[in-house]
Amino acid sequence: MSNPTISSLLNPVKGGPKATVSRKRKAVGNAKQSTKNVPKQTRFLIDLGLPGYDIQPLASVLQKSKRIVVITGAGISCQAGIPDFRSSTGLFKTLRSEYGISFSGKEMFDNSVYRNIETVNIFHEMIKQLYELSKNANPTDFHYFLAKLAKESRLLRLYTQNIDYLETRLEGLETSIPLPSSPPWPLTIALHGTLEMVSCTKCGYIQKFDPSFFGKDGLTACPECRIGNEVRRIAGKRSTAEGCLRPRIVLYNESHPDSEAIGSVCTQDLKSKPDCLIIAGTSCKIPGVKRIIKQMSMSVRRQKGSVVWMNHDPPNKEFDHLCDVIVTGDCQTAVKEATAYVGPTALNIKLKTHGAKKPENQRPRVYKKRAKVEGDIMLKEVFRSSKASSVPPRPKVKLEEV
Ligand SMILES: [Zn+2]
Repeated sequence: MSNPTISSLLNPVKGGPKATVSRKRKAVGNAKQSTKNVPKQTRFLIDLGLPGYDIQPLASVLQKSKRIVVITGAGISCQAGIPDFRSSTGLFKTLRSEYGISFSGKEMFDNSVYRNIETVNIFHEMIKQLYELSKNANPTDFHYFLAKLAKESRLLRLYTQNIDYLETRLEGLETSIPLPSSPPWPLTIALHGTLEMVSCTKCGYIQKFDPSFFGKDGLTACPECRIGNEVRRIAGKRSTAEGCLRPRIVLYNESHPDSEAIGSVCTQDLKSKPDCLIIAGTSCKIPGVKRIIKQMSMSVRRQKGSVVWMNHDPPNKEFDHLCDVIVTGDCQTAVKEATAYVGPTALNIKLKTHGAKKPENQRPRVYKKRAKVEGDIMLKEVFRSSKASSVPPRPKVKLEEV
């Protein structure tokens, strides 16, 4: 994909969530130091737009590899109808026109949306529509190809930048929200969170997404915080500020609450000596993802394995020398032609409504903001002023109270 889409947007090209990045750097090492020492091997360029292309080099790699790491981006979900946030048509154009805003796609996913209630409401409206799109979408052939690798026990890990949770609805590709702090880790790691879950801005409480949490009449207070305050009230203690529910996705200028666990997963995967890295449907502009790719590439080359690039555009010079098989064109076509893929029905892989499990006994973790954000202060003020008398199922804070 030449343009990053909604799913790949959730970390910045510049000025990204440095807390996340620095954590990953610590865990997987500094990628800058040694990419030039990657052993050279034969390169294959496959342009699916040219007549008479030869898919065999890709087929050969996919057939022989046994410990495959896959890093995916929005390009694998386009065929499922998940929109490009920069497109001039569709969901984002409608929202801009409906609310009379001139936000760019990137700005709509910046942590600063929580600075005032108007942008919060627009953001939540967009998230609700994206959630409905994802819920009603079906995984693509590429998603099924990943599930097939998992079923064959050849998928070491799937790192997805997508928030549409299409992969995790497939049997064998489940994830855990939050990630456990120690092994065993799930096969799928959602690098930018998932639309499937919401969490509290204060205590980290997590539950399944429900569109009714995000009405136009204000914010939904965290039931866990409410219960905590009720307990404090009974004990004769003063009440504390309560959080509110938000989608559990990583925005620009904030760090992933599971960043430590993600770093640990990367380290373990490097130790497992992957023999193939597939980078698919992403232009790799996110700093943290770049680092993972560079480290995994070097590890794969040391095993004399292959690094595969599948995207509409070829890799830029930062990644070009790392790739052994470069496939330009539709990644769906590539995997269908290069494997014994026979379609979802014949694979006998279950498609589920939800893909994320919530592990037991996990300490909740909260998103950390890189800089002081006015919105955070505002939200705290909102909930500090709310009275904790009873515990309604989904308490609402009216706009007028802000
Ligand atoms: Zn809470």
